[in-house]
Amino acid sequence: MISGDIGLTFGIMLANGFMETEKEVAINAVLKAAQLCQEVQSDMVQTDAIKKPDRSPVTVADFGSQALICSALGEAFPKDCIVAEEDAEELRENPQLRSRVTDYVNRFEDVSSHQVCEWINRGKGEVNKRYWTLDPIDGTKGFLRRNQYAIALALIIDGEVEFGLLACPNLPKEWDKPNLGQGCLLVAVRGEGAYMGALDGRPIKQIQVADTPLRFADSVETLHGDHGAHFRITQELGITDPPIQIDSQAKYGLVARGEASVYLRLPNPRTPNYRECIWDHAAGIIIVEEAGGKVTDMHGQSVNLLEGRRMTSNRGIVATNGKLHERVLEIIRNAK
Ligand code: AMP
Ligand code: MG
Repeated sequence: MISGDIGLTFGIMLANGFMETEKEVAINAVLKAAQLCQEVQSDMVQTDAIKKPDRSPVTVADFGSQALICSALGEAFPKDCIVAEEDAEELRENPQLRSRVTDYVNRFEDVSSHQVCEWINRGKGEVNKRYWTLDPIDGTKGFLRRNQYAIALALIIDGEVEFGLLACPNLPKEWDKPNLGQGCLLVAVRGEGAYMGALDGRPIKQIQVADTPLRFADSVETLHGDHGAHFRITQELGITDPPIQIDSQAKYGLVARGEASVYLRLPNPRTPNYRECIWDHAAGIIIVEEAGGKVTDMHGQSVNLLEGRRMTSNRGIVATNGKLHERVLEIIRNAK
């Protein structure tokens, strides 16, 4: 079980004073949720991940993660809205699934399945002056492949991300040195920098973007971006290495840690009307910005986190080390 001091230890690494309670509560909750996800994943039968994926493990972990995080936030900040990806309707209709989720939540909190549904539904809040946004498992396909996924949580105040966390249970601590072990927590508070810790809450180091053009990060799923355009843009930047293709906001983590200098997510021509969800980006944005990078949409507009669950007036995402940003936007403009 995660100790109550972990958020505090990590919080001390970030400058003291600002958002102390938020840091402690959110870090502890996200680490607990990460542990639940890891337990579900280790119970997942091998064949789930290999042939004919059975999506039920990711569904159980998704609901369990959202229940634990919404419970902690609801208790500590009862006035705050939480805008999360899931709601409990499916669970209310499916007693077998509800009981599997409750069994996992009960490893952390001894509560009824009714309470678990109530906690999950705390995530049905609205975008507001101050709200949290949560993706209980970002990168569900990566989770099923036993690959990259993240638990993503961010606090938005007056439309600005002020605090963001990404727990990435399968992300190597250094991309090129997998033998150093995997599992990291990336945390950023506005004005205080971005940091990496281990999933036991131990702080590791401050992280920073790369100075020079390196590799780029891209989705695994071809539909989640325009891979052809991403390749052409990065060629023009002089990036010759193949992309690091991983699921989830771990891609923002690679940019923030200086292991990729660009993450592009231009709309796929097959889904031109797709609009990005706030929980798929808010945490990643502040982590890249506080590591010294820049994030806008593909036209150079700041992301608008006040419109609702989706960023309806933005198109695509461009996240860079900062130095390359204007050049990337220029290449996109000239390609039209
Ligand atoms: P990734 O792990 O980067 O491939 O992104 C996963 C996220 O992509 C999911 O959480 C979905 O919300 C989102 N998504 C679903 N369809 C699309 C689409 N057509 N374009 C961009 N993102 C999408
Ligand atoms: Mg997601």
